[in-house]
Amino acid sequence: MQNEPQKMLLTDKNYQMCTRCVMDTTDSEIIFDENGVCNHCIEFDRVTSKRWFPNNEGTRKLKSIYEEIKQQNKNKEYDCILGLSGGVDSSYLALKLYEAGIRPLVVHVDGGWNSELAVQNIENLIKYCGWHLYTIVIDWGEMKDLQLAYLKSGIANQDVPQDHAFFASLYHFAIKYGVNYVMSGGNIATESIFPQSWHGDAMDADNLHAIHRKFGTKKLKNYKTIGFYELYFYYPFIKRMKTIRPLNFMPYIKSDALEELKEKIGYKEYARKHGESIFTKFFQNYWLPEKFGYDKRKPHLSSLIVANQMTREEALSELEKPLYDEKELKEDKEYIAKKMGISNEEFEKILEMPSHDYSDFPNMLIKYNRMKKVQYFVSKLLGKNISSYS
Ligand SMILES: [Zn+2]
Repeated sequence: MQNEPQKMLLTDKNYQMCTRCVMDTTDSEIIFDENGVCNHCIEFDRVTSKRWFPNNEGTRKLKSIYEEIKQQNKNKEYDCILGLSGGVDSSYLALKLYEAGIRPLVVHVDGGWNSELAVQNIENLIKYCGWHLYTIVIDWGEMKDLQLAYLKSGIANQDVPQDHAFFASLYHFAIKYGVNYVMSGGNIATESIFPQSWHGDAMDADNLHAIHRKFGTKKLKNYKTIGFYELYFYYPFIKRMKTIRPLNFMPYIKSDALEELKEKIGYKEYARKHGESIFTKFFQNYWLPEKFGYDKRKPHLSSLIVANQMTREEALSELEKPLYDEKELKEDKEYIAKKMGISNEEFEKILEMPSHDYSDFPNMLIKYNRMKKVQYFVSKLLGKNISSYS
């Protein structure tokens, strides 16, 4: 059988790491070719890199995208919407939009976990650009209940309550102000590689409601969600919302971006990636590796390797560093428990509850697959490619 070698690798419990990047068999679906190069690297070469323009072509493309956006919105107050988290990606994107003369509706979604440093960075940036900032504060009582429900569910992606709130707020706000371009700091340079098997879709409202119904204690009245129909039909086709990722049209090197932000707006660096939120730090550096064996540094460093921003040796030595300083971990756990309104013992008990796959709870996958089939059928009929979110 032709598929035999792949199958053997998939079921083989022996550890293996890609010879080009640092992804390994902690991604249960990873496959290696005869040279030991993984499917993520191959996917990058064949597909992802074709959508990446860190060069003059990108400068030209971005210029024409900006011109179109400006033209379309010349009679409106805003050209687009921009969600600011305080992280480097969205901050740098803001700076570049400002320099290109784009007028974004700037929104910060406060999900309750902002560090003071993040707030300060956002304020400095807004002042520099002379923009107005809209802050959407999520009902903390509901967010807390939802986050506790997620922790008890034991699923991998604990960032869903925060991420879903961010996107739902952004989209609702965009519609309210008649804005149909969403500027995203998402980028190929630093995050092209991410294993599907680690993924729990933040936009799966069915999954979110199912988990909350099972483990939550109060009704979600103010917490907005985006349902399947809205996500795949209403926003993209009725409201014609488009997501633009400008960082894919420039040579985006994070360390350079950070220096530029420091110099221009007095941006202060966080100690760690996602240091803008203690919860995200805890989730990435403790929850995922401890409960699932997922080390998010691996896809991140691998993305930098394939983007030629880091050598494999540098990535390997980065991985040698401990995920958490013990004292810091203890402090962060206590901080999170206190903020969630539970005792340290209760929090430890929740952390010991069994892990689950998100698909152990009702979700959108069946609807999604059905939609993909219809899309495929319609595309064949029309002879062109249709898809909502690229
Ligand atoms: Zn690889």
